[in-house]
Parts: sequence; structure tokens; C-alpha cells
Amino acid sequence: MKKVRVLWLSLMACNGNTHSFLNYPHLESFLNDFEFIYHPVIDSNYSLEDIISKEIACDILLIEGAIADDFIKAGIPAVDIVKKYAEIAQTIVTVGTCATFGGIFRQSAYEDVSGLHFKEQNRTDKFNDVFEKTVSVSGCPIHPEVLVNTLYAIKKRLSLKLDSYLRPKEFFSYTVHNGCTRNEYFEYKVDKHNFGELEGCMFYDHGCRGPFTHGSCNKILWNEVNSKTRAGLPCMGCTEPDFPKQNLFSTKKNMGIPEHLPVGVSKRTYLTLAGITKAFTIDRLERKLFDD
Ligand code: SF4
Ligand code: SF4
Repeated sequence: MKKVRVLWLSLMACNGNTHSFLNYPHLESFLNDFEFIYHPVIDSNYSLEDIISKEIACDILLIEGAIADDFIKAGIPAVDIVKKYAEIAQTIVTVGTCATFGGIFRQSAYEDVSGLHFKEQNRTDKFNDVFEKTVSVSGCPIHPEVLVNTLYAIKKRLSLKLDSYLRPKEFFSYTVHNGCTRNEYFEYKVDKHNFGELEGCMFYDHGCRGPFTHGSCNKILWNEVNSKTRAGLPCMGCTEPDFPKQNLFSTKKNMGIPEHLPVGVSKRTYLTLAGITKAFTIDRLERKLFDD
């Protein structure tokens, strides 16, 4: 069967998404169905110079990294390469939070850094013509299975339901909180946590952004075994437009109430529930799991 032709274009990037993609456990089988016409790391049929000087047929354009008008790639403005292949490709996928929202490169010296269609929460209009054929897979880095499953959905021409940032709802309508093994500690407000420990929820003191970060990290586990919150580190909200935030390991509070509450929970509801749970102390949750 004919393979899907994919171009992986790396722009203003640390290549973290490439590294994460290389951790996909079934890469060999993926490469039976997809071929890279160009990838900065994986063996491919063409060089970057070929991509720039010719017009190579391509089904999916993958963009890794943020974009700015003054960013030069292989001697020409990167924007020009993107424009050329955005027209040739049937579908475009922004790979990672930088390509989707600007990410950490918003802090760089380049001017007007953004993702392909968004600068943080706001729409940009530089690539309006290809908005309809774009799918976003945010994450710093991307979850390899989320990217690969999205690519297979595109290959099979499944109709992907997208959220307002063009992310597939299949993977981004959940929050990271959903499926976290620490939910019981969350419910009873137990955050006596040291990083790496099994016990405690990290929402109340340690800055966990899981309850308001969209992603499937606790439903589709990383390397098929774990997630950040399961391993004992707070979710840093890396799939969201405002990533990165400062003070990633502490919870900002006003009058004792976390500044950001779980998606859909009002301050009033939070205060009512907090009042009720405060009345309980569950001994089992206060103790070490494997102590005695
Ligand atoms: S550690 Fe984070 S994701 Fe897990 S239950 Fe607590 S708030 Fe939710
Ligand atoms: S747990 Fe949070 S910070 Fe970690 S990869 Fe998932 S969304 Fe990103």
C-alpha cells in the first residue's frame, strides 16, 4: 500500500518533540505506513536543500517549533518554506506547544513569535488560508502516542472533532487530573507531598495544573507505564496556550484559595466543598502507603 508522505519541518525549536516522537514504542510499524520526505533526524529521501529548492509532493506537513518573520532557515525566511508546503500538503499538524501557541520561544529575541495560528490564546492571521486544514497537537513535548494516533486518524480520513485551538477532542477534552492516581488525596485536600513520593495530591501547595490542563497524560500513559503526576511531579500545564508559567512548583493563592480552580468549578462551589472536606481527617490518607 502507498505510504503517506510526511514532511517534518523544524523551526524555532529545541527538537524535544522529535526526541519524544522517537520514543514511540512502535516506530518501525509506523514507518511501514508513513515515509518522511524530510525529517531533521530520521533518514529521509530528500535533504532540506531539496525541500527548499524543489516542490516535493507531500501529504502531511508537520511543523515543530515556533515561527517569526525574522527567523531564517537554511538561508531563507522560514515563513516562506511553511507557506510553500502548507499549500502542497493536504493536512498540516502543529507538533508541540511552540508550533501551536509560541511556547517558550515567546521569550526569545525574535520579533512577534507565535505558533502557526495562535499567539498564546489569540488567533493570528498570517496563515489564515490554511487554518481549515490544520490540526494542533500541543504539549512540551508532545505525547508520542497522541501524535501518532492523530496521524493515523488523518491517514484513515476519520473526521476528527477539534476544540477551539484545533486540538483533537479525543485527546484534549479531558484534563490531566482525569485518571490521576492521586484523585482521592485531591478530594480530601491532602497535599503533604515531597516530590517523587507516592502519597498526596500536588494541587494545594505544589502547583499541579492537572485540573485545568487539557491532555490525556493519565489516560494514555507515557512510555506505556507512567505520567508526571503518577511519578510524583506536578503537571506544569504544558499543553496550554499560556505555557510556560513562572513558579511551576508552588500554588498561587488568594486568601488561601488557589488562584486557578479545576475547569468548571466556581469559587463558591470550591469553598463549599473545601468546608465539608476540612471537617474530615482520613487517617489512611495521612499515612505512608508502605511504611510499616
Ligand atoms: S496531583 Fe494533580 S492531577 Fe493528580 S489529583 Fe492532584 S491535582 Fe489532580
Ligand atoms: S502531565 Fe502536564 S506537564 Fe506533564 S506532559 Fe502532561 S500536560 Fe504536560
